[in-house]
Amino acid sequence: MKGRLIFLGTGGSVGVPMIGCSCAVCCSKEAVNQRSRPSILIQYAHRQFLVDAGPDFRQQALRHGITHLDGLLLTHAHHDHTAGLDDLRPIYYRRETPLPILLSADTARDIQQRYYYLFQAGANPYFVARLSLQILPHQEGEVLFEGLPIQYVTYIQGGMAVNGFRLGKVAYLSDIRDFSPSIYSYLKDLDVLIVSALKYTISPMHFSVDEAIDFANQVQAEQVYFTHLSHELDYEQTNAYLPANMRLAYDGLEIEFEVP
Ligand SMILES: [Zn+2]
Ligand SMILES: [Zn+2]
Repeated sequence: MKGRLIFLGTGGSVGVPMIGCSCAVCCSKEAVNQRSRPSILIQYAHRQFLVDAGPDFRQQALRHGITHLDGLLLTHAHHDHTAGLDDLRPIYYRRETPLPILLSADTARDIQQRYYYLFQAGANPYFVARLSLQILPHQEGEVLFEGLPIQYVTYIQGGMAVNGFRLGKVAYLSDIRDFSPSIYSYLKDLDVLIVSALKYTISPMHFSVDEAIDFANQVQAEQVYFTHLSHELDYEQTNAYLPANMRLAYDGLEIEFEVP
């Protein structure tokens, strides 16, 4: 069966344009150079799932007419991936059952501290997030999440464990810096690999463009999209630098993928 994936946001943690910056990319009028914080929407079997809910979720939902969700997958607890949890309230209200969330135990602990008021039972119902947490049982493996056969891996960014997700022939690995070689066994035979690449220069938190190219070459996916992009990466110039099967993603890009 076919699924559809929409890039809601493809920017790094501060977004592009960056506040106060007058570089060529930040001043660019091209839509492909304007990047909200990273998130994707997965549509599969008449249902839709959000991967990460960042600080731009509200604008992304309005732009794409997202009025309901069947589930949320969280890669990790950093602000640029979770700050939209509160703005999901209109989605919680519309559901009759709690919104299922797939995440690691570490991520759950972190968001329950940071958004403690969303988890306080018995409080004003308008401030209670109706969330149903499904904790990933291991470092890597496969789970059934609301009918989705999700394969997941764990890698490290700045000391924090982050989860990457695979559904059928597409995989989404954001905020990857350090990883075990065993990751490749979960990424065989992909049609589409989506992986983060912040900028050309080396960063302690993210792959550089060249490191992401090396990683993608190891994975050997047919098509590769880079996301979580900083203002260092002009869309046209960077694409001209990339191998033919690799491209920068951009906000609003839609792709189809296969779930065998
Ligand atoms: Zn991030
Ligand atoms: Zn800039």
